Amino acid sequence: MNESMYRLALLFAAAHCLPAQVVIIGAGVSGLSAALEASRAGSAVTVIDMSTVGGGHAILSNGAVCIVGTPLQEMNGITDTVALAQSDFLSRGREADRAWVESYTENSRVWLYQWLTDLGVDFRALARPPGNSVPRLHLARDKGWGLAGPLLRECFRRPNISFSWATRAEKLVLRAGAVLGVDVRDLRTGRKRTIGADAVIVATGGFQRPTRILLGAAHTATGSGLELLRNSGGTLTRMDHQWNYVLGLPDPRDPARQRGLAAFTLDRARMVQYCSAAMGFRRQVTVRRDDSRYGTGENQPEALLCRQAVL
Ligand SMILES: Cc1cc2nc3c(=O)[nH]c(=O)nc-3n(C[C@H](O)[C@H](O)[C@H](O)COP(=O)(O)OP(=O)(O)OC[C@H]3O[C@@H](n4cnc5c(N)ncnc54)[C@H](O)[C@@H]3O)c2cc1C
Repeated sequence: MNESMYRLALLFAAAHCLPAQVVIIGAGVSGLSAALEASRAGSAVTVIDMSTVGGGHAILSNGAVCIVGTPLQEMNGITDTVALAQSDFLSRGREADRAWVESYTENSRVWLYQWLTDLGVDFRALARPPGNSVPRLHLARDKGWGLAGPLLRECFRRPNISFSWATRAEKLVLRAGAVLGVDVRDLRTGRKRTIGADAVIVATGGFQRPTRILLGAAHTATGSGLELLRNSGGTLTRMDHQWNYVLGLPDPRDPARQRGLAAFTLDRARMVQYCSAAMGFRRQVTVRRDDSRYGTGENQPEALLCRQAVL
């Protein structure tokens, strides 16, 4: 099909509301959420992921999400407002994106709480991370799996979503500046193929650069999706901003000794002990009781301890 015929076909599809073919790269919570919304809008969706399981990093995560002014907060007698959350986020966050903070705080009750609880996510408890005036970190039952599981199940239930596992996206297919699909490789057989699409969504997550700090993300956090976009002429922003989970236990499976094991289920005191034992570090650390154990901000004791231990 030549370019003008292709555009004509797109216009025809739009005019007749025919389902478009959407390819989503990445089956983490971002990709799955996009898949679900595109499927609900009537598109035929293909989700590809180089892993053999869905859920991405969310499966490793605590399943804890800051949401503003929810029924759970109200049931617990907590008064939270958009204005209060904005003031907290803007004063705590360094170089915070004001427009995004405003949009998030105004809509998180519907976009997150309602959307997720409608899928069956069960928020059970609240915590108050540093920088928040009230408890607004919503803790999902079963942690990260409690968030990703219901989303994944709903995607599996829908006939217009299909999955291609162990498939790595290697290149976006471009013609006259339009993305027409994606070149992929089957990681089991090495076979390459092209998947055509009317729209491609890249949801490949973040990246972690090897540093001397132990990295807390999975081995898939290489930024390959970012390279894919960059190589296609895409513009990336805020690449100098990245969140690192600083973890104290070196992962014995990683020969390069750059990745750490998440030890969130340990209490703070025990985590400090493990850090010390694992890294042969003996410094005494005072553990502040008023810190939340959620979030490993750079000023928190275990983060400081682990950082000093590996530097
Ligand atoms: C230990 C830990 C605890 C955390 N706790 C919390 C928490 O409590 N609350 C919170 O809000 N956040 C938390 N996070 C962060 C949160 O989990 C992530 O921000 C979120 O899961 C990212 O989702 P995503 O879909 O954007 O990306 P990812 O989950 O990284 O998914 C990207 C997917 O894309 C796939 N992929 C990448 N490149 C390619 C390619 N070229 N081709 C095909 N597939 C590709 C990957 O295999 C992966 O499945 C935590 C993270 C970690 C590591």
